[in-house]
Amino acid sequence: MKNRRISIVLFALFVLIFNAKAQTTQNKDPQIVQMVEEVSNQNLESLVRKLVSFNTRHTLSDTLNKTTGIGSARNWIKTEFERYAKNSGGRLKVSFDSFVQPADGRRVSQETVLKNVMAVLPGTDTTDKRLIMISGHYDSRVTDVMNIKDFAPGANDDASGVAAVLESCRVLSKYQFNATLVFIAFVGEEQGLYGATHLAKKAKDEGWKVHLLLNNDIVGNSYSSETNIRDNRSVRIFSEGVSPAETKEQAALRYSTGYDNDGTARQAARYIKEIAERYVDQLDVKLIYRRDRFLRGGDHTPFSAQGFTAVRVTEMNEDFDKQHQNVRVENGKQYGDLPEFLDYIYLQKVTRLNLSTMANLALSVQEPENVKIITGGLTNKTQLKWDKPKGKEPFGYYVLMRETTNPVWERKIFVKGNEALLGYSKDNYLFGVQSVDNGGHESLIMIPKPANK
Ligand SMILES: [Zn+2]
Repeated sequence: MKNRRISIVLFALFVLIFNAKAQTTQNKDPQIVQMVEEVSNQNLESLVRKLVSFNTRHTLSDTLNKTTGIGSARNWIKTEFERYAKNSGGRLKVSFDSFVQPADGRRVSQETVLKNVMAVLPGTDTTDKRLIMISGHYDSRVTDVMNIKDFAPGANDDASGVAAVLESCRVLSKYQFNATLVFIAFVGEEQGLYGATHLAKKAKDEGWKVHLLLNNDIVGNSYSSETNIRDNRSVRIFSEGVSPAETKEQAALRYSTGYDNDGTARQAARYIKEIAERYVDQLDVKLIYRRDRFLRGGDHTPFSAQGFTAVRVTEMNEDFDKQHQNVRVENGKQYGDLPEFLDYIYLQKVTRLNLSTMANLALSVQEPENVKIITGGLTNKTQLKWDKPKGKEPFGYYVLMRETTNPVWERKIFVKGNEALLGYSKDNYLFGVQSVDNGGHESLIMIPKPANK
């Protein structure tokens, strides 16, 4: 009797553990493990402190002084990218993306030449047009958004994001990828997302295949003085469910399929969570199902407005006494966005999140095309079909599956051919298909469109 009870308890325990541990198979690429290792918290700290040293990086500040103001800041960022270009064997292409921003009667008082700073590492597969982008904004501000003189350190907002961009570039540009990597320090964010708006429009006009933009804004702080919460494990990925560029036909498809939660930004967010948690220890990626925080905007938004896949990466617990504040002490309390308030080990984790996602995606082959779910007849099974990707051949595919209420994929089923027949009803689950190469690198996930055959 006692033995029987013990075995029931053991069985229950087994069921519990089995359920909790479903989907733990992880295929780590030693080369990506190496890249992740190379991200240095000391480098990140010195990058942030260097950006703070320009006194202000206000978009309308001095462009001529050699050591202070936005001009010296952007020149230094360009020089830093050029330093990495030397170690890339000349493959990394560095440039200013310059444009004239007219006065807007709001936060830009007069016509001004603005410059994003960019570095592009071309992919090795010339048939692969995917661009995988990472950004932060290098401009800063104090309480008065028009104040162009006072000390505006912007250590967290957003020297932290620019440091993540630079450090990712330093490491990644030494390696080779199928797809093209793009590293950007945006200008004009605080004045109205002007740098990102300019580049997003240019990308649309020139037909760039922007596959994913990871926009890093406020990613260096693990403590909030307001709530007294210290959390160096969690990071948020903001993603919208429905693209603002959705057409009527796409909306009709969404209504009929229940794909409200399966827009490209949200798929990308799931992808980031899976890959970053595979490669970065002690990191919990929180999927936030909205475009951005209340009262705030970011440089991913102009890209999603143009129909590109773009998400925002931001720390879990923001300290609003540090952001957009004049640097001052009031009632014994320090205000202002100073570098000593950042947690550089945390920033290292967030940088590793970006870097591992970019590396895995850029090393993958392209995603399958024409992915279909066959809805020609009433059946309790699910049939999926697809065409192979352009460019390099995949090793195979993963069919992904989850319950309609589950935020993340539950199963990854490896398939060698170009179709799958599953013993689960298409009415009760959501499905996706991604390519996988022989190194285990996955493409982004394609959601099937209903088709008769
Ligand atoms: Zn910002």
